[in-house]
Amino acid sequence: MAPYSCARNEFSGEASVYLDANENPMNGPYNRYPDPLQLALKKKIAKIKGVRETQIMLGNGSDEPIDLVFRIFCEPRVDNVVAIDPTYGMYQVCAEVNDIEYRKVRLNPDFSMDASRVLAAVDANTKVIWLCSPNNPSGNLLDRSQMRRVLDGFAGIVVIDEAYVDFSSESSWLSDLGKYPNLIVLQTFSKAWGLASVRCGMAFASEEIIAYYNKVKYPYNVNLLTQTFVNEHLDKETEKAEWVAQILKSRADMKQQLLGLAVVEKVCDSEANFLLVKVKDANAVYRELIARGIVVRNRHNVTLCNDCVRITVGTPAENERLIEEMSKMK
Ligand SMILES: *Cc1c(COP(=O)(O)O)cnc(C)c1O
Repeated sequence: MAPYSCARNEFSGEASVYLDANENPMNGPYNRYPDPLQLALKKKIAKIKGVRETQIMLGNGSDEPIDLVFRIFCEPRVDNVVAIDPTYGMYQVCAEVNDIEYRKVRLNPDFSMDASRVLAAVDANTKVIWLCSPNNPSGNLLDRSQMRRVLDGFAGIVVIDEAYVDFSSESSWLSDLGKYPNLIVLQTFSKAWGLASVRCGMAFASEEIIAYYNKVKYPYNVNLLTQTFVNEHLDKETEKAEWVAQILKSRADMKQQLLGLAVVEKVCDSEANFLLVKVKDANAVYRELIARGIVVRNRHNVTLCNDCVRITVGTPAENERLIEEMSKMK
């Protein structure tokens, strides 16, 4: 398949007169189509992450690189993918939109993963295995040696979603990219970087996989405003590190305080910026918090999450209000 060849692809050097793309000559710089490969931004990201620019795909949030995995690697109504359960909901949504069978492998009650059970769900038509670590909604890291067994034992694509990696005590899988040509690592600017509204997600993989991404994605999938805004934010690494440190401290405080409340039965260990909390009656807690103007995520109907709510770590003042309201509940 030949990708769409846009004006910005056919000529990518520096010229003084651009009459190739039917743009309006006025209203610079917004009149021009943006760089389809976002090279200036990738250059900066490559340096920070220790990868080559050609190992990066940028998308409209992580949603885009997630969806494109199905569109690139799976044949509708023929192929299937395997994923841990519970996990982030977008993998299943994208599977269903693309008409690809989605096979769930239930985690252990402590949300740990047995590689052997994941690999047992694989058949000849399995093209992708979805892992998420730290996982959502549980917040735990998957065991590294179990993940390695999945990577070693499966010849198809293995996606590791690291949206919460900045909050975790373990390092990224990025350093293993060279070892696993079938590995895709997902990260995002939506969490630690505080840019959820800007919509920019990252996929890191072998150059071969990134070439497929570039072929299938919309040519101008990341607009100029996002490219320049994220680029500027990358200079604020110190500020981001301070935010993360603050959130980690609040996460520990919040866990301690929650454990002291009558309504709380259990708080899962978290390597992310949220806590999965088991309460006496999740529906009631959710409802009562809403009535007091506080929104948490009710996970009661999610696998292994009976009577659990997922609570994002907020500012110290926000966390205090949550604890205050929850302390009134029995
Ligand atoms: C929040 C989250 C994302 C981020 O998605 P974006 O589209 O980049 O905002 C990705 N994966 C997981 C598991 C998440 O929880």
